[in-house]
Amino acid sequence: MEKSLDKIAWDDLFGEICANCKGPKRAKDSFCRCCYFELPKKFRGALYTPMSDGYASIYDEAKDWLRIEGQRFKAQAEVGARKLP
Ligand SMILES: [Zn+2]
Repeated sequence: MEKSLDKIAWDDLFGEICANCKGPKRAKDSFCRCCYFELPKKFRGALYTPMSDGYASIYDEAKDWLRIEGQRFKAQAEVGARKLP
């Protein structure tokens, strides 16, 4: 049976592995600090939404954002760091 969104969000929240980078995180933090601070402000604030108020879908959106946009941000940062002559 497939895990429901709520169950995944709950397990991830209390687990100690960041769902985005698979690095260590603290239980009750949505992501590791590194990934968390990559998120836009609107997500960071929204991740304090209680489970009963739709945390799971916000968490899922944030995870998608990190997977898609986060990677692009990182690629851009690397290009930026490689100073062009
Ligand atoms: Zn992470």
